[in-house]
Amino acid sequence: MVGAGAAGAVASIFLARGGADVVLVEKNEKIGKKLYITGKGRCNLTNDCEVQEFLKNVVHGEKFLRSALYSFTPQDTMELFEGLGVPLMTERGNRVFPLSEKSSDIIRALANEIVNLGIDLKLNTEVKEIRKKSDSFEVLTPWDKIVCDKVVVATGGISYASTGSTGDGYKFAKGFGHDIVEPKQALCPLIVAENVSSLQGISLKNVSLSAYDENGKVICSEFGEMMFTDRGITGPIVLTTSSLVNRKSKVKLSVDLKPALDEKTLGARILRDFDERKNQDLKNVTRALLPERLNLYVLKCAGLKESKKVNEVTKEERKALVDTVKDLQFTLSGLAPFTEAVVTSGGVSLKDLKPTGESRLANGLYFVGETVDIDALTGGFNLQLAFATAVACARDILKA
Ligand SMILES: Cc1cc2nc3c(=O)[nH]c(=O)nc-3n(C[C@H](O)[C@H](O)[C@H](O)COP(=O)(O)OP(=O)(O)OC[C@H]3O[C@@H](n4cnc5c(N)ncnc54)[C@H](O)[C@@H]3O)c2cc1C
Repeated sequence: MVGAGAAGAVASIFLARGGADVVLVEKNEKIGKKLYITGKGRCNLTNDCEVQEFLKNVVHGEKFLRSALYSFTPQDTMELFEGLGVPLMTERGNRVFPLSEKSSDIIRALANEIVNLGIDLKLNTEVKEIRKKSDSFEVLTPWDKIVCDKVVVATGGISYASTGSTGDGYKFAKGFGHDIVEPKQALCPLIVAENVSSLQGISLKNVSLSAYDENGKVICSEFGEMMFTDRGITGPIVLTTSSLVNRKSKVKLSVDLKPALDEKTLGARILRDFDERKNQDLKNVTRALLPERLNLYVLKCAGLKESKKVNEVTKEERKALVDTVKDLQFTLSGLAPFTEAVVTSGGVSLKDLKPTGESRLANGLYFVGETVDIDALTGGFNLQLAFATAVACARDILKA
């Protein structure tokens, strides 16, 4: 087993429980470094929903993942960890966490089970190469040549590389002729072409963010919270959007700052405000509608002078204001770097893998977890993908 993250640890445990001799090789000094930072240190380990509902949150690999998820459901994950002595709790949106709210409890439970099962865990050991011999594999580390019947690659993606996921799985997969779907940042902040530095730190609740492709077709539309950064936007609806647009080019974004009001109602409200404060500067009247700095930005985008007296604003200018509040446009110019991406989208191509994770190009070689071209939205879905693919692979190996 190459990599002792979420997928590698669980696959090793299932294999050892089934009687297999497992060598688990991890380049870090401890297991589960990424697990430690999941869910802001609380580890949202799965989502307690039906598989059908779960699949709606899978961004890439839905068809490939079906059998793995039906065979190892979110409820099975909960049973696994409760069985390992970790009491769990379920929060808003079916998000499951350890009752202690400590990811370290999840890691400790896995580590204890690895010891109890007598798994040969080699820490501080980086796998450099995997070679296929006629009936076996050779896994090369700086100080070892491990000979084995099967190899499972569970090395993760390339986001948050400081946790150990540096894309080694792609290198191993390429060595066996696998295609790699270009890795892209997912669940990450978005960078826009416009200068939004004046808006940095402004947080918006109950807004709607839509993304459009180059033909003007809606890619997605999300309602909720977002925030401006110095170069773009972030927050829950932005992270979701990033996963849905990261493989597209020429994406336009539009923020509806007042989704609860249609154009007519918003227009009437603005007109009423104007009537009540005829002799005031425009910026002082529209301030009631939007946070201060955003107010100035919106007026500029609408082509309105902030110091103009309200009684001088024309009907057309009022319409431009309404249009801008309902459709504040940005051009997507990039994704935040992998160091800020919660997951990696892309990886070992699904066309080269069986649903068990076994390679179609090299019998006995498996790929599981984030190293594969699968990803999902936030809510405990990504860890569940790691666990479910790990178990599907372990069961297949044990069957053989
Ligand atoms: C900040 C953050 C928060 C997150 N929060 C959540 C959450 O709350 N819920 C959720 O569902 N998902 C969350 N995720 C996503 C989730 O952590 C990953 O999808 C999941 O950890 C992937 O598991 P994995 O086993 O495939 O890879 P990893 O957990 O990345 O494990 C890969 C392991 O392989 C090791 N390795 C790599 N190369 C080698 C090599 N050559 N030799 C030996 N070992 C090697 C690495 O050191 C690492 O330990 C979060 C991610 C981040 C970055």
